Amino acid sequence: MRICVLSDIHGNLPALDAVLEALKPYDAVWQLGDVVGYGPQPDEVVARLVDVHAVGVRGNHDSAALGVLDTDSFNDDARSAVEWTRDRMQAGTRTWLAALPERFIDPPFTLVHGSPRDPTWEYVFTASIARANLQSFDTPYCMVGHTHLPIVFRQRGSRVDGVQPRDGSVFDLDGERLVVNPGSVGQPRDGDPRASAMILDTDKRRLEWRRVEYPIEAVQKLMTDLELPVRLIARLRFGL
Ligand code: ZN
Repeated sequence: MRICVLSDIHGNLPALDAVLEALKPYDAVWQLGDVVGYGPQPDEVVARLVDVHAVGVRGNHDSAALGVLDTDSFNDDARSAVEWTRDRMQAGTRTWLAALPERFIDPPFTLVHGSPRDPTWEYVFTASIARANLQSFDTPYCMVGHTHLPIVFRQRGSRVDGVQPRDGSVFDLDGERLVVNPGSVGQPRDGDPRASAMILDTDKRRLEWRRVEYPIEAVQKLMTDLELPVRLIARLRFGL
């Protein structure tokens, strides 16, 4: 079985569509939260995820857009985009997001947005944070999003090391505990503006990272027309 693993789509429909096309064929779609927020097409993104029967978890931006999470710790641009999303989302979008759990387990995988010990807020940026989280999930492998950075944290004996996958990088699932991040579909932050995603092949027991070009200018134009924050528009071009 091949599973397309997506995170941090952030209302970016052209990026989502490009990834769903480029990663074919697959049998299922998993998503790791932050479906909405920042980007201009929250309803359309959720409709597409419904079309492909995506399962997964809720992120902090999703909860904030639902009005069930305080935005005090959001920066001004993130807060204003969340408020824009909250005011615009259709009822069906809201219902779909509200039904997403914080944690989704399909052994041998645990899916969360932030970290297994704090699915809403904690960023797994470093090997020491990954190591501190190793006892917080029961399956061998954990998938996280939230940082918008593709990474693999591997347990090797008592050590945990971090490896940054590139387009086409492959990692075998050999039973050692892993915390992996597919990177962000809709707002990459590693300096590569292409959408980032991952394919899980359960037969080959293998993960593969992929980068996919999408029409960034079209998204920027739509965001400009909708008067979303200029900094959020500009950053898409640089992947930062
Ligand atoms: Zn995010």
